[in-house]
Amino acid sequence: MLVTSKQIILDAQRGKYAIGAFNTSDMEITKAIIWAAEKMKSPVIIQTSEKAIAYAGLEEITAIVKVEAKKSKVPVALHLDHGSKLEVISECIKAGYTSVMFDGSRLPLAENIIFTRQAVEMSHRAGIPCEAELGAVRKVGEEESFTDPSEVAEFVKKTGVDFLATAIGTAHGVIVGHTDKPKIDLLKKIRRKTSVPLVLHGASDVSDEDIKSVVANGICKINIDTDIRHTFAETIREMAKKNLDDPRDIMAQVMKDIQKLIEGKIETFGSKDKA
Ligand SMILES: [Zn+2]
Repeated sequence: MLVTSKQIILDAQRGKYAIGAFNTSDMEITKAIIWAAEKMKSPVIIQTSEKAIAYAGLEEITAIVKVEAKKSKVPVALHLDHGSKLEVISECIKAGYTSVMFDGSRLPLAENIIFTRQAVEMSHRAGIPCEAELGAVRKVGEEESFTDPSEVAEFVKKTGVDFLATAIGTAHGVIVGHTDKPKIDLLKKIRRKTSVPLVLHGASDVSDEDIKSVVANGICKINIDTDIRHTFAETIREMAKKNLDDPRDIMAQVMKDIQKLIEGKIETFGSKDKA
């Protein structure tokens, strides 16, 4: 069933586990995410970046996720990941997204608050929750811009945001052979400043042990994108060696491998059997 992300994330907060938020850009990844969630009996968030929307088309990707979600036995939310403009938030709400993120993390604090507040108002008018980011989760290779715990209470109060994305040392993208080390002390300081559920971005190359530790310290939503794209590409490379000529045979294996990846993430995040 299609749900907003609000209840499933609040349930996760109470139950001390995290909901996986997995990025899609097509039918195959969407189906694989839902198959994994159903097999693990877990609620799930399927999210699209603006790049995924540009690739698939807003109407097309929304329709795919909605149809699959409605047929599903587990709760599925459709979330906008890193909305950079209020217009995008508005378009996604109109299209039927059940959760959004506004990312003003590269703006000065005062502007981030003003724009996030507007995104929150738009979302709440539509009856859906809004995530925002304080500090900026860097891309691989960029300099750190951690969440400043002294800004957290003010940001949450002035914006009314439902979930807060934290920059605690993880990065978007992965470097082969490298693992990101989240700063648990910083996460604890942020946790003490607010009761809203916290979100971890850039989690693809964080160890299972560190994932369990961030979940124990207040992370209730964990975003996974890079791992899915890498699994997709790796399977395509493997299948290319077999000289198949039916794309359905190739994509069936891609979906199988992505499903397996996501089942493993759900196991680590602790949301198995929580649907
Ligand atoms: Zn992110």
